[in-house]
Amino acid sequence: MPIWIDVPASSPFTVDTLPYGIFSTGTEAPRVGVAIGDTVIDLAVLARAGLFDRTVNDPARLFAAPVLDRLAGAGRDVWAAVRARIVTLLDAANHELQGHPVLLSTAVLRRDAVTMHRPVGAGDYVDFFSSIEHATNFGKILRPDAPLMPNYRSMPIGYHGRSSTIVVGGTPIVRPRGQRKPDPNAPAVYEPTRALDFELELAFIAGPGNALGEPIPIDAAGDHIFGCALLNDWSARDVQSWEYQPLGPFLGKSFATSIAPWVVPLEALEPFRIASREQEPPPLPYLATTHPWGFDIDFTVTLESDHMRARGLAPCPISRTSFARMYWSMAQQLAHVTANGTQIRPGDVYGSGTISGAEPGSFGSIFELTWGGTAPIDLPSGERRTFVEDGDTIAMTGSCARGELRVGFGEVSGTILPAVKTIS
Ligand code: CA
Repeated sequence: MPIWIDVPASSPFTVDTLPYGIFSTGTEAPRVGVAIGDTVIDLAVLARAGLFDRTVNDPARLFAAPVLDRLAGAGRDVWAAVRARIVTLLDAANHELQGHPVLLSTAVLRRDAVTMHRPVGAGDYVDFFSSIEHATNFGKILRPDAPLMPNYRSMPIGYHGRSSTIVVGGTPIVRPRGQRKPDPNAPAVYEPTRALDFELELAFIAGPGNALGEPIPIDAAGDHIFGCALLNDWSARDVQSWEYQPLGPFLGKSFATSIAPWVVPLEALEPFRIASREQEPPPLPYLATTHPWGFDIDFTVTLESDHMRARGLAPCPISRTSFARMYWSMAQQLAHVTANGTQIRPGDVYGSGTISGAEPGSFGSIFELTWGGTAPIDLPSGERRTFVEDGDTIAMTGSCARGELRVGFGEVSGTILPAVKTIS
């Protein structure tokens, strides 16, 4: 279907993507937009103009909102109706929007002229560990005798993360301080981390929640997953390794997590749905489904140092990997997280865990890429990296392609600022 907005060939935001985000201009309040090509369409303005009156009830309530949570909580029928209506409004043969110059000038804005905000409220944030390659790599580096924990193939392992420090992509990340214990025979020290890492992840955003005490059956998962966004789960490995036993990740993770500004609806990913990975042993019945929950998504991670930026060198790709072989699926994660009757709520964030492949160069963290710091990465500037340094920008992109069909996630990026001075 031809549309009346131009989409550059390099843009991830085709008419088949139509991701939602929260944006603002000038002093106006943040509101819901949809991205297409180099533009963002202000859905709050379209709602005020009556263009969604026959699509959903009270569209202003959904779109004149500072987070996507109401839209996420509205459910599958509303998601489908809104998406179909946007496609209709973009149709070259439709003049409801393109035929109104005043509406066009207020509702269709250049994406590079708006400010993006954190897309969801993220009342809760859970981070999983769903790539068996990532779990095995970490195990091999840290516990060569027993790389994979005995519970790994039994359930999607996860922990509750800190939602208050989920920041929108582009937000600078201050190098955290924390307790490190570089010398096993000396007391710990409180210092800026010397082992700052990233974790390439894909998060799913929860849709309608469940009643307390009522687990979500795995075959209903599709009704409760609104969409997906790129996520970088920044990690301070030295802080993490000293603090995490026996209660798991804490301050080594909670200083910041970057989420991409654009949430790609699950419906946009349907053409790229593939068989789930085979699991051995077979999962318990509450985690078993015959519905395919794999997705064929490719990712790239780049690093750009201060020095590279000053010399005009392009960001250096340091990892290329895929979502296709994740061991635990989003549906299994959702069934598991509610298996004890806990509640999920619209706009919650569920991270996949680091996405790593089996081959060097396809790992989703610098700890794996440099194999625990033993194999540094050479940058085109002549610099070397074992961990992420001040001034480095880490950018992650994700995309799906099949024939003419392209769906992209855009980018999540963050630049490291030096640790703040503090009393020692
Ligand atoms: Ca993680």
